[in-house]
Amino acid sequence: MSELPQLVCASANPDKVAEIALVLDGLVDLLPRPEGLADVVEDAPDLEGNARLKAVAVCTAAGAAAVSDDTGLEVDALGGAPGVYSARYAGEDASYQDNVDKLLAELDRVGASTPEQRGARFRTAVMVVWPDGDELCVEGVVEGIIAAEPTGEGGFGYDPVFIPVERDGRTFAQMADEKHEISHRGRAFRALAAALRERATD
Ligand code: IMP
Repeated sequence: MSELPQLVCASANPDKVAEIALVLDGLVDLLPRPEGLADVVEDAPDLEGNARLKAVAVCTAAGAAAVSDDTGLEVDALGGAPGVYSARYAGEDASYQDNVDKLLAELDRVGASTPEQRGARFRTAVMVVWPDGDELCVEGVVEGIIAAEPTGEGGFGYDPVFIPVERDGRTFAQMADEKHEISHRGRAFRALAAALRERATD
């Protein structure tokens, strides 16, 4: 039996690691982020750049190929904001609730009140960096509408106000595993799985 290639996971978030492990099961041997590694300053101008910063830092520390991801919510009426600043939209120490409150206030401020005016998407960039400097980047996107008010108890982040267009009007926070079938992150990691499979057969 051939040994699976190893990838060190740049994320230490247990929910994310579990989701990534599920999608890459049987394709790669996913190793945990090295203990004690300092957080990487994510100051690149785009998602791909931030994903690269994290993957390079972990690849260098571990001396092995590393995989990282970075996600942003792009709202059309706000010129693509919060985008790469999604985690800190309402400030450096902002809670998920602070960020959602700011998003709804900004949409009010620009007068985007109808569903047609509240189009948005989640975008995830996933990056693998190998010790020889080789890299692979894929992305996943889900289109949606920003709800008038938060609904649902599940998920995290902007989930209570994100209504994916390809379902029945529920927010991501009102879905359980169904979210992973259509989510930006699910799509990005399935794209990575396909790209890794293709590389393995080249
Ligand atoms: P990260 O790059 O995965 O850390 O995501 C950056 C920010 O985007 C997070 O702090 C959340 O506010 C938001 N975010 C990422 N993924 C999701 C999601 O699946 N649902 C809702 N918000 C998300």
